[in-house]
Amino acid sequence: MQKPLRQTPISRTEQKQRAAADTRPRTTLSWYRYVQLADPEAFRNRLLQQFSVWDCFGRIYVASEGINAQMNVPTEYWEAFDTWVQAQPELAGVPYKIAVEEANQPSFYKLTIKIRSKIVADGLDDSSFDVTNTGEYLTAEEMNEYIDDPEAVVVDMRNAYESEVGHFTNAITPAVETFREELETVPETLRVHKNKKIALYCTGGIRCEKASAWLKHQGFTNVRHLQGGIIEYAHQVKEKQLPNKFRGKNFVFDERMGERVSDEVVAQCHLCHATPADTHYHCKNQMCHTLYIGCEHCVEKQQGYCSRVCALGDRLPESIKKPMAHYYAEWQRRKPFRKTPLRSN
Ligand SMILES: [Zn+2]
Ligand SMILES: [Zn+2]
Repeated sequence: MQKPLRQTPISRTEQKQRAAADTRPRTTLSWYRYVQLADPEAFRNRLLQQFSVWDCFGRIYVASEGINAQMNVPTEYWEAFDTWVQAQPELAGVPYKIAVEEANQPSFYKLTIKIRSKIVADGLDDSSFDVTNTGEYLTAEEMNEYIDDPEAVVVDMRNAYESEVGHFTNAITPAVETFREELETVPETLRVHKNKKIALYCTGGIRCEKASAWLKHQGFTNVRHLQGGIIEYAHQVKEKQLPNKFRGKNFVFDERMGERVSDEVVAQCHLCHATPADTHYHCKNQMCHTLYIGCEHCVEKQQGYCSRVCALGDRLPESIKKPMAHYYAEWQRRKPFRKTPLRSN
């Protein structure tokens, strides 16, 4: 008998407890495909039905333009999962980006599959340019050549909080908060490098598919992007024993918040500005929930809060915190941390 579709009205704490009690080994992976889906809703239900049977957890976006999945699979079901995915006509041949390292805690605590208008929020009007005119891929070896080549320029297509903890040597790492902002900024930043070879990279490659087509539309002819992103690069480096030109951690969008690619710590603590650190935390005050980098000493001293104000604010009664939450978050956003400097040109 098939299980009913999972509805999750239970709290996050309860979800975490349940997931933590399930100690089966899991394989964390991400995968995406741009593919025209005639009926995204039916496609979503098909995935939800099947992935629920195997107790997969993760966050998956489905749109008429395709699918973007970050998830884990109980390792005992890996083969069944792989066979099933590859047998779907929309997904045949889709490559997986398997996590470089699993953490002690699960990478996800529940399964959500959402229908969106796009699988990546890029703010672009897809009818205004040829989205299929993407750049050619770069292998890990070719990426290394680009990094060493003075006639090439390497651009990090991720957000500042991602590149802050890890990036390629010599890469331009724009100080942007969203992918949308990145796409607005990068053509301007690259103007001075117009005649150079351009290499783009992101976490698992999905953002570069759109970004390379967008840059080509903006008149950049020599644009390529790293195949499978940093995740695949890290695997290639290990397998083929190539020099590793990625410094630090690869930020990932699950509970692990990062995979170590090199031992180097490239960022510093946002609280003391003195200690090298590259572990992200969310402020314990739910009204704030700000993402920050903390060193062990500061995190312990501040008990998981990003500031003393947040520690004090959290002591207020719930009846006051609730109506305040929205304004509090806005106010927090306006006084950002002093972060690790990035390379912007
Ligand atoms: Zn510190
Ligand atoms: Zn806070």
